[in-house]
Amino acid sequence: MKQVFVNGSINDLNASSVEYNGVSFSGLGTGLTWSGTESFRYAVVPTDGTFRNLIVELSGTPGAGNSYAFVLMVNGSPSTLTTTISDSETSDSDQANDVAVSAGDIVSIRVTPTSTPTVQTAKWSFEFEGDTANESIIMGNFSPQTNAIRYGNPSGKTQMFAIGVALEDVMLRPIGDSKTGTFEGIQFEMDAVVDGELVEFKSTRMGVKRMTNDFPIGYYRQLLGYMKMQGVLRAKFTVMFIIPAELITWEVEVTQEELDRNWEWVVGRRDLRNRFVETGEIPQPFTFNEDYECKDCPFKMLCDIEAAKDGN
Ligand code: SF4
Repeated sequence: MKQVFVNGSINDLNASSVEYNGVSFSGLGTGLTWSGTESFRYAVVPTDGTFRNLIVELSGTPGAGNSYAFVLMVNGSPSTLTTTISDSETSDSDQANDVAVSAGDIVSIRVTPTSTPTVQTAKWSFEFEGDTANESIIMGNFSPQTNAIRYGNPSGKTQMFAIGVALEDVMLRPIGDSKTGTFEGIQFEMDAVVDGELVEFKSTRMGVKRMTNDFPIGYYRQLLGYMKMQGVLRAKFTVMFIIPAELITWEVEVTQEELDRNWEWVVGRRDLRNRFVETGEIPQPFTFNEDYECKDCPFKMLCDIEAAKDGN
């Protein structure tokens, strides 16, 4: 299973010293800052797999003649997965090199400044693929205390399931099975169907009030799409809110007209997608998508780079 790690620093890069950070998001606390000591930031790989696709974006340019070089460190040595952001660039990536790691290896990201670059903050992401099918990992980092015995979980902080699929399994499997298939050429995976009744499950860091006042259009489209496939006008929509913790189930009821109007949109997207697959063309970034889709899209940095090349 492929998964994407994302991370970013809350403090500036150092313009003159080599520093380290975690490869993946660490939750809260000091793990998001750069450190001159790698052992304060590295994480232990729990399973064999491969890191690839290092993408880094800075808050601004390093300036003419200057650069920041980023590299995945494995067991204290730089790997071949590396990218350098120079001069007037604000982002770059290494999508050519794969780095195999084994369970027990330690990994971090290292940044090396050259020629006193302009101070910036950085965001980065990696792809990780475990050697074992369907295996994914949770891997944060934490800042160890040197003056006392401390205990922490693998991510350094209290952590719930980071992966929606795992959470769905825990919450929904006791009451019903998921349903997968293809309907009018569109693949689907409903979270659970209980005695013929559709149950869609989400977890979110969005607040209850915001969800109620500004229901995410993506959730709406997905839910109504599944209702169309099931041929129902009613469904249950359950949301687990993280902060503050809350579990709410809405009974959703729509008209046939609402369902059909939404389905027209879904089918339009299917046709667009098929057209590009058939022609082999790559869709122009930020042209065919809905705005909300870019917000948390793991490919956003790539699209930003492509759009910048086209001068958009
Ligand atoms: S960022 Fe993602 S959703 Fe937005 S255009 Fe690029 S690929 Fe599509």
